[in-house]
Amino acid sequence: MFLSGFLGRFGPLAPISSARAATHLIAIALVFLPAAGRAADYAGPLFDAHLHYNQEAWNGHSGPHPVEDVLARMQRNGVRAIVSNSRPNDGTHLLASSPQTRQAGVTVVPFIRLYRNRADYDNWFRDESIFEMVQSEFTKGTANGPFKGIGEFHLYDSANANGPVAKKLMAFAEDKRLVVLAHVDDVAIDLLMAHTASRGQKMRLIWAHTGIGGAPADRVDQLLAKYPPLMGELSYRPGLTCADAKGAERLCPEWRALLLKYPSRFLIGSDTWVNQRWQYYDSLMQGYRSWLGDLPPEVAKAVGWSNGARLFDLPLGGP
Ligand SMILES: [Zn+2]
Repeated sequence: MFLSGFLGRFGPLAPISSARAATHLIAIALVFLPAAGRAADYAGPLFDAHLHYNQEAWNGHSGPHPVEDVLARMQRNGVRAIVSNSRPNDGTHLLASSPQTRQAGVTVVPFIRLYRNRADYDNWFRDESIFEMVQSEFTKGTANGPFKGIGEFHLYDSANANGPVAKKLMAFAEDKRLVVLAHVDDVAIDLLMAHTASRGQKMRLIWAHTGIGGAPADRVDQLLAKYPPLMGELSYRPGLTCADAKGAERLCPEWRALLLKYPSRFLIGSDTWVNQRWQYYDSLMQGYRSWLGDLPPEVAKAVGWSNGARLFDLPLGGP
């Protein structure tokens, strides 16, 4: 794209004299220095740490996105591992147990979703039957191995982090070494961590969207410093990317600084919460590859792949 834009703008260089050509090239280099100095898009493996395979995508019988379809989307985007969760959990069982998944070379890290239906979104933190369901799923596991986490769950009012089932689930997760994927605000991070025996020092919590409400970068910094195992997943994160002079998405300066300060603490995710997100899966992943290319290669690899791999004992170098 860069080369064709370049030729389209300046035309062929051959007819001009060598001295003029040299001057011309220097001028061109100066014009394009910021773009030319930028590394290429990140081209390594991706770990999609926030993926839903909900009933409306495919329930084993119908839906626009059967297993072969979603696997093809992952494959053509270099997504080699996913955190999968679904409403209800059948979608994750289906994805985790399908022979096609193994053939596609995609590792499924299964999480237990707390929601059997939409009504559970607003009530899970006090519904004892959900705690029982989580324990039952944990005991059963999937046909391809044990569950590795709980979530994604939502708290639209952070005070509900103190609900009786929320408290029990956090203690249960830490005790069983389960990772938690939580869509909550910064206040709820503190409340949830307080319910664990380690008071958040051992609780491996992935903060979905790293605060979809846009907690300031310095508040995110403070929480990452306070809870060493806390990870931030970056889908839908307000303020993460800024358009550059040419309209391309780049990391905004304060987020670039935060990712460089905590290279081992961030993850990317698709958040396929509605079918439309599956339709845009290619562009979502391309968007990540583009801004990951703004980072030093080792940081891009960490955020794109190895931070997720480390969390779930997958090969750090890639699959
Ligand atoms: Zn989600």
